[in-house]
Amino acid sequence: MAINENMFREYDIRGRIDHEDEMSPEAIDMISRGFATFLKRRGIGEAIVACDARPYSETVKEKTIQALMGSGIDVIDIGVVLVPMFYFSQYQLKKKGGVMITASHNPWGWSGFKHAYDYSTTFIPQDMQELRQIIEKKDFSTGSGARQSYKNIFDAYKKDVLGRIHLERRIKVLVDTGNGTGGLFLPDLLRAAGCVVIEQYTNVSEKRHHEANPSTLGMLDAMSHGVREYGADIGIGVDDDGDRLGAVDEKGEVIWPDRILILLARLILAIKPGGKVVFDVKCTAALPEDILAHGGVPVMWKTGHSYIKAKAKEVGAVLAGERSGHIYVREGYYEYDDATFAALKLLEYMSRDKQTLSEIMAKLPQYVTSPVWHAPCADEKKYAVVERLVSSFKNEYGVERVNDVNGARVSFPDGWGLVRASSNVPALVLVFEAKTDEGLKKIEEVFRTKLAQFPDVGSEWASG
Ligand SMILES: [Zn+2]
Repeated sequence: MAINENMFREYDIRGRIDHEDEMSPEAIDMISRGFATFLKRRGIGEAIVACDARPYSETVKEKTIQALMGSGIDVIDIGVVLVPMFYFSQYQLKKKGGVMITASHNPWGWSGFKHAYDYSTTFIPQDMQELRQIIEKKDFSTGSGARQSYKNIFDAYKKDVLGRIHLERRIKVLVDTGNGTGGLFLPDLLRAAGCVVIEQYTNVSEKRHHEANPSTLGMLDAMSHGVREYGADIGIGVDDDGDRLGAVDEKGEVIWPDRILILLARLILAIKPGGKVVFDVKCTAALPEDILAHGGVPVMWKTGHSYIKAKAKEVGAVLAGERSGHIYVREGYYEYDDATFAALKLLEYMSRDKQTLSEIMAKLPQYVTSPVWHAPCADEKKYAVVERLVSSFKNEYGVERVNDVNGARVSFPDGWGLVRASSNVPALVLVFEAKTDEGLKKIEEVFRTKLAQFPDVGSEWASG
């Protein structure tokens, strides 16, 4: 049986349940048996299995459990959870192996797997390669595993995280979970933390008002509308599996995750002076500026979940995150990205300040930031093009102005511009930032002129 290779992404597997070469019962069986072999090679004989709230996820979960047990893996079924609660369960139940069934923010009809083999450790590209080889060679282990369920993960999680935060005043929070899994947990958690909660699209439903994806304007606009209508102090949104966070202030203005990181860094640096904060190359210059101003050490690193997680571990960071909304509060917490815990920490910061969120944000270093642009460029060309761009920028501006940890992030007197190869789509990713609109235009022009010298790069840029 052929499995569509496009399902195997860098860090997870995603496919449609009604496509026979994607998340079909046979494919679920083979992938899960392959994963069982992967675990056994590492001496792991047990796995936690969990899923998101899409009703068909239960069927995928059952099939997965059968395949794992049939390969000799003992299974602990923890039911419907968010990804951070799945990671939490690894520590709680002391199990390194695990499978989370979710398609993250993908539309209805999609499903997928996040595979874990150590605490807070999910697949990286090499692991995905190994899994594919096991499946191709049908190198499956056999056996008969046992099965048990553990249904109280949310209670344990709630007790744990609430013990780690303290809100000094009551905050009125609008919660939007885009009819996704977060609706089952986030309102309850925030009420237990002492917030006044207004729920918006928190019922799990196939009919989605908007995607459960806080990077998209559909969700942010709905949140913005909601806070103004209900007079909330803040709007909080998470993606369908709960590992990416988005926020809007009381006026409905978007607070992008790199600016959320500024506030979280202040909160943590106050108790951990000199702490390191890891963030990706797409983040605002306001972040390193503010980290330095608050006695911290900024560490800029490559965009991508596994890169940021590994770098944070390597340097012993107190906090890490990406502009995409993955946030790792490491000081006084675990090592995984958790949008709900990051939201609670953001509320903790707010609760200690008498100003409104928009007043707090207005006092941060101000920059004008462009959308994230995509310029078409074929997958087989994009990395070579970026390499040539890096050296061309270095020749023109000098090495000290070109940070090359991930493409080229070029510094200008009043801002910066970034070009890197997208890891998901056939495109180059571009972001610009400057102190003024005019400065932003100038930096964009520099990049447009440079890219025009490369016939392999399309001139029609799309935002998103
Ligand atoms: Zn996610």
